[in-house]
Amino acid sequence: MAELSYAETAALRNVVSRAVNETQITDIHTHIYPPAFGDLLLWGVDELLTYHYLVAETMRYLNMGCDHFWALAKRSQADLIWKTLFIERSPISEACRGVLTVLDRLGLDVSTRSLDSYRRFFAGRNVEEYVDQVFELAGVKSVVMTNDPFDDAERPIWLSNKSVDSRFHAALRIDGLLNSWQAAVPRLREWGYKVNNEVNAETVDDVRRFLTDWLDRMNALYMAVSLPPTFEFPEHSPRGRLISECVLPVAIETGRPFAMMIGVKKLTNPGLRLAGDSVGRSSIEVIEHLCANYPDAKFLVTMLSRENQHELCVAARKFRNLHVFGCWWFLNNPSLINEITRMRLELLGLSVTPQHSDARVLDQLIYKWAHSRAIISEVLADKYIDLAAAGWRATEDEIRRDVADLFGGNFWNFVR
Ligand SMILES: [Zn+2]
Repeated sequence: MAELSYAETAALRNVVSRAVNETQITDIHTHIYPPAFGDLLLWGVDELLTYHYLVAETMRYLNMGCDHFWALAKRSQADLIWKTLFIERSPISEACRGVLTVLDRLGLDVSTRSLDSYRRFFAGRNVEEYVDQVFELAGVKSVVMTNDPFDDAERPIWLSNKSVDSRFHAALRIDGLLNSWQAAVPRLREWGYKVNNEVNAETVDDVRRFLTDWLDRMNALYMAVSLPPTFEFPEHSPRGRLISECVLPVAIETGRPFAMMIGVKKLTNPGLRLAGDSVGRSSIEVIEHLCANYPDAKFLVTMLSRENQHELCVAARKFRNLHVFGCWWFLNNPSLINEITRMRLELLGLSVTPQHSDARVLDQLIYKWAHSRAIISEVLADKYIDLAAAGWRATEDEIRRDVADLFGGNFWNFVR
């Protein structure tokens, strides 16, 4: 045994922390856009405060009906959330703390608790410059967006062939296809694809054409869908047939991964809208079946339920075409990121992407990465200290290499 001295341990923690803080991240799943996408890019303090995580937390304290809340102007919603979660009680939840981290890193004085002064700061910003500043403060070099051709605000932007800021990579979101097929059919027809309610041969051909058209148009890195805990595969349903006969063949032919985010129960409380979704435990057998039966397809998978995390790690040990990523949504809390990251490193070594931001508001890149970096750094340092106790001293270069893999390198290798 070669136990490290207190000073050696502190020095090693320092090396890991510097590597983690200085490595530029590829954020593999977000909901942010470049400024050229206009109103789709959300930023600023009112957007931060009206994030759906904070809406859900606010409504726990109010007697107000959901309809009444949604009828308020965004600024009034933000006022109410600020008063309820930050002034009338201490903002200790992770989502509240995130707002404060953002304001603090931007150089604002959170001790004043003056929402109006924060608003004045944002009102004076130029959005292009602000994107640069946020990327810089977050230590993020590029992000992957969520791009939905069924979104009427987004589709025209792609059809106009505008050039996209190279820091923003596309991902083709296909929830519209897989989760509401009956509604997708008339729209696909309107766009010139010969599809029918029944997924027959003609439909299969043209859905494949739709997918390849949009992968090319967006230069998308992967196809993505969010799925309910009840998701089954194989399944005799339009979704089951669309996956087996359209999505997977296109994924294999183009080499693009199919990303599945599994475990979201939509609108458990419909009145809360985007804040009304919940979580359910999903079937790992579905993922095992997909990985085993489609060895030439690549699967990026994250699951929403904490209870699925261990079996997902074990599945990834069996299938190299399965890449596990991120601590999603209700898992994006320090205690759970710590637990999940530790387990993944112990079971999978460095062959994971431990985190994505899921940022819906540009500024959130700052806090999501600041908070996750601190935890990943602590977990990694513990692992290198354990190795040192066995006589294996990782060099600074080796540590930086490993961190670069976790913060984007593994993802890029998997995608290519
Ligand atoms: Zn997301």
